[in-house]
Amino acid sequence: MTPSTVSSPKLPQTLRIGPFRVKSFGAQALAGQLYRQLALGRRTELFFANTNFVVTCKDFAARFDDPAITVVNDGIGMDLAAKLMHGTRFQENLNGTDFIPRLLGGSPLPLRVFLFGARPEVVGEASRTVERRFGHEVVGALSGYGVDDAEVCRRIRDAEPDVVLVALGNPLQERWILDHAKALPPALYVGVGALFDFLAERAVRAPVWVRKLRLEWLFRLLQEPKRLWKRYTVDAVRFFRICRAARAEA
Ligand code: UDP
Repeated sequence: MTPSTVSSPKLPQTLRIGPFRVKSFGAQALAGQLYRQLALGRRTELFFANTNFVVTCKDFAARFDDPAITVVNDGIGMDLAAKLMHGTRFQENLNGTDFIPRLLGGSPLPLRVFLFGARPEVVGEASRTVERRFGHEVVGALSGYGVDDAEVCRRIRDAEPDVVLVALGNPLQERWILDHAKALPPALYVGVGALFDFLAERAVRAPVWVRKLRLEWLFRLLQEPKRLWKRYTVDAVRFFRICRAARAEA
């Protein structure tokens, strides 16, 4: 290859959504960047920011301003905010439930994966899926209930993983990664929400046509109305207020 054909990866655009700097990545470019970081043995903290993330993590938003941290957009609310605040859209809709299986499935290297979060039977079943479906080695699996942080950190240190998937929901998983990842061995630390429930087939994804219409949130709301109604009403209003307030301050 001649030097003129070697292209360096383009820097993604950053859009400010509320108090967060959110990177506008395509899934392929994001995966490429993460594989490079993994090959170099660097620590990366990756967060998927949806409206619930913005509302529940806004009080410690400054902690996400760190070169080792990447925040990407998840969901239609973030796109609406980008359009309203910046007159543009994110490149792609990214979410952990679609992106992480794609990342694991496309990895050029075998990975050592640690799963932390969800109920014991769910994380156990999700681990088996990671091994069976993607062929990676699961080097640790711990439930996210009755957690002893020191014990989780010790298990992660001993396991020497490449990837640590943290599934505690917002904002517990974000706080956990921000509080602990920097003192743990370099790896990719990702907050993945309900991913283990999907991998373990305890939760059902919306049909593809619903996802294409970007209505998966409505599908989830209909499945768990008691738990989620506030998230899609009161919190949705709070989300746009947070965005407006941050724009007024800028
Ligand atoms: N979870 C956990 N410990 C907790 C709270 C939640 O391990 O203290 C797990 C929960 O079992 C689920 C995941 O975190 O597997 C995501 O939680 P939730 O459904 O609240 O997240 P959502 O995707 O709805 O934001």
